[in-house]
Amino acid sequence: MKRKHLIVVGGGAAGFFAAVNAAEMNSALQVTLLEKSGKLLAKVAVSGGGRCNVTHHCFEIEDMIRNYPRGARFLKKAFHHFFTPDTIQWFHQRGVPLKVEKDGRMFPVSNRSETIIDCLLKAANRLGVDIRLHSPVSRISVYRNETGISNEAQKRFTVYLSDTAFLEADYLCLACGGYPKLAQYNWLQELSLQIKPPVPSLFTFNIPGSGITELMGISVNAASIKVAGTKLRSEGPLLITHWGLSGPAVLRLSAWGAIELAQRQYQFTVLVNWTGALSEQQLQQSWPEWRNTFATRKIFQHQPFALPARLWHYLLQKSGIDDSQRWGDLLQKQQNALIQWLTASSFEVKGKTTFKEEFVTCGGIDLSEIDVNTMQSKNQPGLFFAGEMMDVDGITGGFNFQHAWTSGWIAAKSIANIADT
Ligand SMILES: Cc1cc2nc3c(=O)[nH]c(=O)nc-3n(C[C@H](O)[C@H](O)[C@H](O)COP(=O)(O)OP(=O)(O)OC[C@H]3O[C@@H](n4cnc5c(N)ncnc54)[C@H](O)[C@@H]3O)c2cc1C
Repeated sequence: MKRKHLIVVGGGAAGFFAAVNAAEMNSALQVTLLEKSGKLLAKVAVSGGGRCNVTHHCFEIEDMIRNYPRGARFLKKAFHHFFTPDTIQWFHQRGVPLKVEKDGRMFPVSNRSETIIDCLLKAANRLGVDIRLHSPVSRISVYRNETGISNEAQKRFTVYLSDTAFLEADYLCLACGGYPKLAQYNWLQELSLQIKPPVPSLFTFNIPGSGITELMGISVNAASIKVAGTKLRSEGPLLITHWGLSGPAVLRLSAWGAIELAQRQYQFTVLVNWTGALSEQQLQQSWPEWRNTFATRKIFQHQPFALPARLWHYLLQKSGIDDSQRWGDLLQKQQNALIQWLTASSFEVKGKTTFKEEFVTCGGIDLSEIDVNTMQSKNQPGLFFAGEMMDVDGITGGFNFQHAWTSGWIAAKSIANIADT
């Protein structure tokens, strides 16, 4: 009997996981992996600052899915098939133990992403996966047997690398990653897939012309930020950069607001509460007590918020308060202005900057097209998906790779199973 052929398109985390696991689960399967560039697992190499943040130390599905602005409900089901403990075990069984850091991110003990790359490459070689570099897939055609006469010799998919070069496959797994441009999905036209318009996620805010950027390098551990006129808000560490605002609070907001902020063409007002949880009303209430306690002290030298001195100086300046002024001498007008600046500093965001450490695409193959238990297209038998190409994306912290491993593994399992039938 002729071997069934699986072609995986994309040599990233998801494509590799699908290819290697399918080959391992069904040795009768012939597996080919096509990568358009000259480099395999390129994002794995640079991720986590070259250490590869493989997954997140979270063993509760309900908690885990809170980190995915898109695809949480889908993943709730998918994680029942392959979850964080499975990832840890998978790599451990192949000689790559993982360790956890304080913030929950998990890395190889070696602290080197090469360890993950070597592990996947070794497995692919051992299992005979045929890896072809510089093989960009430019078109796919599907054989539809309308004659009703069985045609065993005819493979279902023809995968074109150019007008004349092509390969044929029984099963196809698309793991091409994310592209924040709809036109990049044109080559999939023949598959009639629904695509959720892709836009970038995980970016930082540009605030040109604002004095705040002079405080670059300063960070506040627990700030809260919101986008004026929307429900978008987030909390956490905030970093002032030479172009605007960054840090986990901003990245999280950019992820949850990816679609809304794209619609606003990245022009919006962001309001920063430097105290984190304290409201304007709470500050108004506490103020008389601080005023009494610190009455004779210089306001610049005594503040109850533990903010970096340069930031405090900036906020005082903005509120029209001189560094030498004492708490007891503060005018009502100055006090109100300071409370306003502390709880709702307003900045005009004009544009975004890609975050170097991690960025992903929001949007992609519509999840309504995909059977979560198999990762197979609901309309196109034999067609599977894995990774960021689907309309799933997470915040930073290892969540995007976990999705790549999970979807790659489920696709592999389903293909290995049906290839047997
Ligand atoms: C700088 C950076 C750092 C990151 N750090 C982390 C991190 O620490 N933790 C985390 O969880 N996530 C991280 N991410 C996100 C994570 O890397 C991705 O979500 C994940 O790599 C997606 O894997 P994938 O296999 O779906 O796609 P990709 O890794 O993008 O792989 C897709 C592959 O398909 C190939 N391809 C595309 N089209 C074709 C075609 N037509 N024919 C043939 N090949 C094709 C591409 O060249 C590419 O190699 C980071 C992302 C970036 C950009």
